[in-house]
Amino acid sequence: MTDKQFDVVSGMDVPRFAGIATFMRLPQIPVDQADDVDIGLIGIPWDGGTTNRPGPRHGPRQMRDQSSMIRRVHHLTGKSPFDEARVADLGDCPVNPIDVMDALARIEAHYSRILDKNIVPLSAGGDHLCSLPVLRALAQKHGPMGMVHFDAHSDLWDNYFGGFKFTHGTPFARAIEEGLLDPNRVVQIGLRGSVYDMEDRDFGKRHNVRMINIEEFDELGVEQTMAIARQIVGEDKTYISFDIDCLDPAFAPGTGTPEIGGLTNREALKMIRKLHGLNIVGADVVEVSPPFDPSGYTALNGVTMMFELLCVMADNIDAGR
Ligand code: MN
Ligand code: MN
Repeated sequence: MTDKQFDVVSGMDVPRFAGIATFMRLPQIPVDQADDVDIGLIGIPWDGGTTNRPGPRHGPRQMRDQSSMIRRVHHLTGKSPFDEARVADLGDCPVNPIDVMDALARIEAHYSRILDKNIVPLSAGGDHLCSLPVLRALAQKHGPMGMVHFDAHSDLWDNYFGGFKFTHGTPFARAIEEGLLDPNRVVQIGLRGSVYDMEDRDFGKRHNVRMINIEEFDELGVEQTMAIARQIVGEDKTYISFDIDCLDPAFAPGTGTPEIGGLTNREALKMIRKLHGLNIVGADVVEVSPPFDPSGYTALNGVTMMFELLCVMADNIDAGR
């Protein structure tokens, strides 16, 4: 049992629409005061890696707002992540909206400070390039990691616009080249849509990344897909990256590069639950773009995926105590 300092505000005490929005109505604690935190929820309000429709810089704020709907207990397990781990909203990461390389450096430095305190990060993007500096900080601590990556896109492209190597279409090519990820322990789920050419898939094949197209997922189903994913990442350290565009645009219209024919939110919830017991060193939900969904439904899907991830991660921390 965790102490009350880290509990969420109940909608039975303060109505859900009231107060200052934090992730899941948690206390907000600055990183320099977060010594007792096990799992930190962090916003990365940055979309400088976006190649098409922008807007994920606004993601964390809308996701905090939508997360006020999240209650403390998981309806299937009867357990609360807020009992199993000390969880806090660590606020937003410092970014630079007008300089890509400086933003990457600031994000990495901020996550290094968080990891120095032995906090496991669960982040809300931001576009998918945000995952790269987070992985850089994590790899300093953990070495090369495995990854379960939910996405319509592989994000394994080499470059855009005649040689620029840092966009939201390239983070995992960089992460593999830099040795942050062990590509033999990377699985991508939900890939679909037209491509420039087969370069990204060839990169994945060359490095032995397991790419599960949506068509293969349809054949396999949730159970078998996740059995494969668990086998690939094994028991070693693993990162989870959830691009909201893995969901069908019916569930997540508010994103930069929507692709039709995607996962349902129910399939995604079930798949995240199947990550239970894996050695998760960090996770993120990225590419929620509020300007393309002012209703907040995409953000609600995003933060609900964060809650499911948090339940899995908190259970591990509880088991490790
Ligand atoms: Mn992506
Ligand atoms: Mn994507």
